[in-house]
Amino acid sequence: MDIHTKSLAEQAELLQQRKVSSVELCQHYLDRIDRLDSQFNSLITVDAERALAAAKRSDEKLAKDEGGPLEGLPLIHKDIFCTDGVLTTCGSRMLENFTAPYDATVVQRLQNQGMVMLAKANMDEFAMGSSNENSYFGNVINPWKVGTVPGGSSGGSAAAVAARLAPVATGTDTGGSIRQPAAFCGLSGIKPSYGRVSRYGMIAFASSLDQAGPFATTAKDCAMMLQAMAGFDERDSTSSDEAVPSYTAGLDQSLEGLKIGVPSEYFAEGLDPLVAKAVEQAIEEFRQAGAHIKSVSLPNQGLCIPAYYVVAPAEASSNLSRFDGVRFGHRCDNPVDLEDLYKRSRAEGFGDEVKRRILIGAYTLSAGFYDAYYLKALQVRRLISDDFQKAFNDVDVILGPTTPTAAFALGDKKDDPVSMYLNDLYTVSANLSGLPAMSIPCGFADGLPVGLQLVTNHFEEARLLQVAHQYQQITDWHTRAPEGLD
Ligand code: GLN
Repeated sequence: MDIHTKSLAEQAELLQQRKVSSVELCQHYLDRIDRLDSQFNSLITVDAERALAAAKRSDEKLAKDEGGPLEGLPLIHKDIFCTDGVLTTCGSRMLENFTAPYDATVVQRLQNQGMVMLAKANMDEFAMGSSNENSYFGNVINPWKVGTVPGGSSGGSAAAVAARLAPVATGTDTGGSIRQPAAFCGLSGIKPSYGRVSRYGMIAFASSLDQAGPFATTAKDCAMMLQAMAGFDERDSTSSDEAVPSYTAGLDQSLEGLKIGVPSEYFAEGLDPLVAKAVEQAIEEFRQAGAHIKSVSLPNQGLCIPAYYVVAPAEASSNLSRFDGVRFGHRCDNPVDLEDLYKRSRAEGFGDEVKRRILIGAYTLSAGFYDAYYLKALQVRRLISDDFQKAFNDVDVILGPTTPTAAFALGDKKDDPVSMYLNDLYTVSANLSGLPAMSIPCGFADGLPVGLQLVTNHFEEARLLQVAHQYQQITDWHTRAPEGLD
């Protein structure tokens, strides 16, 4: 069976026409997981029994012509989402033995639509990282090339979809963790507007930046997934009550007359020439399809990384204070007193990168430094956001590279946090501004996929998906898959 070469939308059709059953489809993927994932380490927990039982229920529904467009389709969840009765580690020793007592809203909604969870994906610890080398459960390998990273922090989700261990997966994006791994693994991935998808049951990293979204091979599949994930949730006070439009209805609209802005600041120092070339080629394709290309300016682009790496650790240090060995998380053996219990539980439970962020966050929030760092970063955040609003006065979409380079080698940046952080150069601004952004494949650099980033104004996900879908009608980069994984 070569059904794993088909998109989610195509698989949905086969299920609806009864050409394949959900049990067959899920079993096919479970067999692939069994056979292939030891090469990639993309998964932390696989629950075949539970998946097949759910698939059987879907088949019963399908037989009665019940269920929506996602009924019976398999997926993988990033291990940051709480899953009722299933291990939920967040990639950390801190939660090594945590079985969630409830489902995250994202998990619940996709399950209500009939989707079948096959597994929980590996990830950087507490979603901190750009290479998936920070997981307590070991690093993940990019299926495109042995020895390269899949990106992070949703590296397990991206590697699993790239290796066709599932047609789609969920991820979260605080500073690029959906778009950057999508770029490195040749996938389509969307980070919605802040507030579009509920954060309830999604273990918090930086609450004002975190958003959930899907990975898939096509923009159309992302649209189908986002449709099920998006919408107001009374259990997340930051979720928006803005109505969710149809994300699939407008996909076929042409690019004629679309105004695309290309920020001059993106094509500067740090950008790999091979990545630049692929992105320039994509711009040319958009032009030929009838779009107007305009140069725009995001003058504060150079401040994005410093602002992000103050705001995100500050929020993380606060969010992670709950893991104290008493209320949540790993507890050390034989503590002599309460202070010893806190200190040793946290020292043992957290990895190096998480500790680094907690230290930075505690420092920038401390009385003497709050004004100079945290408050200043918030002011810069506002300037960055204003730059985008000015640009959107003139254009509909902003386009550029997702990452400055294609996937790098394992170990390359692990001991140099600053060079690791610089990989987030083009992604963090969308989180700081709360804007929706997407990465789609647009070529290769030395055999490794290159990602094209598209950004639109708040709650314009439908336009983002339409532009991405239209690009995928005139190019075939999204159809490429790593070789040798049949
Ligand atoms: N790479 C960024 C970081 O390490 C973004 C992570 C994310 O989006 N979760 O913070």
